[in-house]
Amino acid sequence: MSEREPVIGIDLGTTNSVVATVQGNQPAVIRNRSGATLTPSVVAVSKTGKRLVGQIAKRQAITNPEETVYAAKRLIGRKFSSQQVQEAMKVLSYQVICGEHDDIRIRLEGREVSLPEISAMVLREIKADADAFFGKPVTKAIITVPAYFNDGQRQATKDAGRIAGLDVLRIINEPTAAALAYGFGKTVNGKIAIFDLGGGTFDISVLEVGNGVFDVIATGGDTFLGGEDFDNRIIEWLVFGFAKEHGVDLRKDRMALQRLKTEAEKAKIELSTIKEAQINLPFIYTPPGGGTALHLQKALSREKLDELCADLVDRCITHCDAVLKEAKVKASDLKEMILVGGMTRMPKVVDAVKAYFKRDPCKGVHPDEVVALGAAVQANALVSEEAQVLLLDVTPQSLGVAIAGGYVRKLIPRNTTVPTSTTELFNTSKDGQTTVKIMVLQGESELAHQNELLGEFILTGLREAKRGEVEIEVTFDINSEGIVSVGARDKETGQRQSITVTASGGLTEDELKKIMEEQSDYLLEAKAGEESRNKKTELENIIKEVTALIPQVQQVTEGSEFGVDAVAKAVKSLEGAKRALEGGSLTALSDAIDTLNRTLNLFRGVLQRIGTR
Ligand code: ADP
Ligand code: MG
Repeated sequence: MSEREPVIGIDLGTTNSVVATVQGNQPAVIRNRSGATLTPSVVAVSKTGKRLVGQIAKRQAITNPEETVYAAKRLIGRKFSSQQVQEAMKVLSYQVICGEHDDIRIRLEGREVSLPEISAMVLREIKADADAFFGKPVTKAIITVPAYFNDGQRQATKDAGRIAGLDVLRIINEPTAAALAYGFGKTVNGKIAIFDLGGGTFDISVLEVGNGVFDVIATGGDTFLGGEDFDNRIIEWLVFGFAKEHGVDLRKDRMALQRLKTEAEKAKIELSTIKEAQINLPFIYTPPGGGTALHLQKALSREKLDELCADLVDRCITHCDAVLKEAKVKASDLKEMILVGGMTRMPKVVDAVKAYFKRDPCKGVHPDEVVALGAAVQANALVSEEAQVLLLDVTPQSLGVAIAGGYVRKLIPRNTTVPTSTTELFNTSKDGQTTVKIMVLQGESELAHQNELLGEFILTGLREAKRGEVEIEVTFDINSEGIVSVGARDKETGQRQSITVTASGGLTEDELKKIMEEQSDYLLEAKAGEESRNKKTELENIIKEVTALIPQVQQVTEGSEFGVDAVAKAVKSLEGAKRALEGGSLTALSDAIDTLNRTLNLFRGVLQRIGTR
């Protein structure tokens, strides 16, 4: 083996984190210094002021609920005022506080700690485990995130890596990583689905896999759907029953809440293998002033658990249906169905998946380890020349700019393959407007204020003219990690402004609505009639580009199956694109552009990888 610097792949989970590396051409999990493969993503400060991370932090949670932070991933990169955070806070035993910019802080060690700092504590522990494994410091790492994470959440995760002293080579999507690990060392051709139900998030992705290319076709899910919700259903059931019987609300007591949580999860896990679990919480309530203590003792059957959580399982399937539709794939077209995440051990979840996908899920992938293994494979591919993997990820949410009237003009629709770039022309929206404000939004709503404001900037010095006369060119770029940069250029003067979008503090919907109203004089106007013309030009250019690359790809792949496949696909896409040009419908044009962009990315990847040897 060469003496190159070690690289690691990290699955930074809501509940558990896993680290892996490739050694001797095989991906393998690195055990932590206690010998376990999973490290709980839990951080605590003990009563004596010692900082604890992992299993040791999890174990003392009951007696130290206020200084034990878990499930931080559900909060990272989010706004304090968002409904999901408000909802989540109800059952968190630690103190969540609102930062200056509606960001989230956690009270720990008597300080207000940011979420990236919390995650960095987990990452630092994992790094130390990897350092111990290699016998030297490891800095280069890939960290995975749920496919559905938005820009803010990705940025915050990257920040966490940086704080922990890691050089984060890339952020990749968990399902993509899982597919990589699944496809490692075997020949897989066709479409596969990855169903990942973890502690806090649910992801469903459809990928096309073949000859070392992993092409994400569509992805979706819910960043607030996971094992914690199943636990909460049990907690609610217990609390409700207890209140009915004794007239006491156990949720008011943080210590009781933490004990309930631990017992609920334990029962849930047991019910994956046995039919009935016993929940036993002696002395769960001691009346103030010292009356008789109350105990909680209950049996929970698998049927009851299934009933309590039925809608959660249904929600997973609803997401699956939406993503398959978006991918234009039927369940029967799938080659394989892969289950990822600890929650996929629950029989009810497996049953629902089997019923919907009409097949048995793939055996032979380890649901806890597969994401970290895939991250390690990709990290290895990035630093070594021989590894043959090409990842084509997609952007999980649409991106656009705010336009006059409080609407959004989408420039990059969701599920577009990244890296990607697009340019569109806009006009001033008012007579005499010399300034435009570019407000970058992420989300699916047509109404600006219902999206997330990723960032904003101002382009000044426009010529004073009638509304619509001055043209502004807006360009969006998304790099392969899903990080966004946006530029605007005054076509007349050539003057430009740009930003790389960084995790903004975030604004509430109401605040955003107010800003939209206040800023209405400075917004852009979309060029209606020109849109189709622009798209046509864009498509024509891509057609030229792809056509020109075909001979080069044929040359470097030297008639290999891989090359023949890639070219055949490209030819088919080109035919589709030409039909779209003739038809001229906007959606057909956009679809064709997207398809050919995917081809272009594939070709560029091939040429870069093989062509430069
Ligand atoms: P994450 O990736 O979000 O950290 P994991 O994939 O590690 O999450 O899954 C953790 C979740 O899986 C927890 O909610 C845990 O309770 C649940 N879990 C683990 N094992 C089982 C099991 N055997 N049956 C049911 N749920 C389980
Ligand atoms: Mg996970």
